[in-house]
Amino acid sequence: MRIELFNTLSHQLEPFEPLQPKLVRMYTCGPTVYDYAHIGNMRAFLCADLLQRVLRVVGGYQVRWVMNITDIDDKTIRGSAPGSPLWRPEMGEQTDDPLENLRRYTRFYEQAFLEDIARLHIRREDLFALPRATEYIEPMQELVRRIVARGFGYVAAGSVYFDLSAWRQVARYGRLLPIDPAHIKPGARVDADQYEREEVSDFVLWKGRKPGEPFWDFELNGQQLPGRPGWHLECSAMEYTLLGLPFDIHTGGIDLRFPHHEDEIAQSMAGYGIDPTRFWVHNEFLEVEGQKMSKSLGNFFTLRDLIARGLDPLDIRFALLQAHYRLPFNFTFAGVEAARRARQRVQEYIYQLHEPAPPDGLSVEVAAVRAEVFGHLAQDLHTPKAFAAFFRFLNATPAAELDAESRRQLLHFLSEFNLIVDVWEIAPRTPRQQDIPAEIRELAEKRWQLRLQRRYAEADALRERIQRAGYVIKDLRDGYILEPL
Ligand SMILES: [Zn+2]
Repeated sequence: MRIELFNTLSHQLEPFEPLQPKLVRMYTCGPTVYDYAHIGNMRAFLCADLLQRVLRVVGGYQVRWVMNITDIDDKTIRGSAPGSPLWRPEMGEQTDDPLENLRRYTRFYEQAFLEDIARLHIRREDLFALPRATEYIEPMQELVRRIVARGFGYVAAGSVYFDLSAWRQVARYGRLLPIDPAHIKPGARVDADQYEREEVSDFVLWKGRKPGEPFWDFELNGQQLPGRPGWHLECSAMEYTLLGLPFDIHTGGIDLRFPHHEDEIAQSMAGYGIDPTRFWVHNEFLEVEGQKMSKSLGNFFTLRDLIARGLDPLDIRFALLQAHYRLPFNFTFAGVEAARRARQRVQEYIYQLHEPAPPDGLSVEVAAVRAEVFGHLAQDLHTPKAFAAFFRFLNATPAAELDAESRRQLLHFLSEFNLIVDVWEIAPRTPRQQDIPAEIRELAEKRWQLRLQRRYAEADALRERIQRAGYVIKDLRDGYILEPL
């Protein structure tokens, strides 16, 4: 089925076609691993996951999906510095080597991130690569050399900057988000990774070494410039190295349009001479209970916070998928509860489809609902319309009345749909699990959540309680199996 996507570059819907037949190359700006990711970050990764699944299942493409891990930037350096409140005992002792401290610190939050996305069913096997920025320092340095050699970069006070005035003479700056020329400050320089549209100036490509910070040696035209890459440069170099330019789709949260993505475009065009990607796909932000999420309002949630409050990550996944990605998402506890019930309803429906069909069962046309649901997904990932069509069909089609052939076709469609939604079990209900009382299943779930929070002693106590009741838990990498002893 043909896919249409809203492209931030053209500000309109465009038919999607990959540059190479059948293969889509896609890059997502991944997490900065300086703290636990919050639920707003998770929305961006879930939207990218939705897109890559729709491309595979509805579009019939192979997808080469790259999501980076930002393990060197202003925030990770600050967090790994001596005395940082974000340093945890699990990271070990701080050493005298800032680079080793950065490694211990970022690996801890990277691991936490990988656990979080696994709980949300963003699957590691769907990712072609999850590159760490610190493992691509050489291509980053090479890109700086290229930009300087082509006259769009210069050295000042031990750092290298992008020369915006030179660039604006040959190309447009402000392609994703219009920039007011009055806000451009010629010759001014900005060192921070994040800055506002009102502070447009020469941005840093390579930051000169500061005392006590991690650094790499770098030689540029015979000059020694020890330091580290700027955040924007990291993505440009990883895209070039892992996907090749131009690639098909770049995704990210709407807040990354400027400066991060605008600077990525400028760097790739200035250094490699190639406009990096054809489609820019941005998701809108997430609010909590109608308000901007902030620590001071007490509505700032990581996935772990929500799990600790008893929410199931798959209900969160299902809730977030309900809204269109280009609309702000209002996260509410009532919304997740509604998603839980809807998800459970479909699960019961699937179980019913596995039961024997009545001899005079009803026949339904499954191809029509499939075409409708997938058609909406192909239309700029319109999940609200897709789910509306799906539930309309379910409401009008009681599973118990269907004949065997309709059941078979429906199960086939549901398993295809579940390759995108990924919150149901398509298999029949296992009789052994059915026999396990609800309170034991809840204890097992509670124990799993405690383990995720590294509260191992409490988790072990629950395991013993479950065993005394006659059941055993077998741990898997991303979950567990609960069985009678
Ligand atoms: Zn990026």
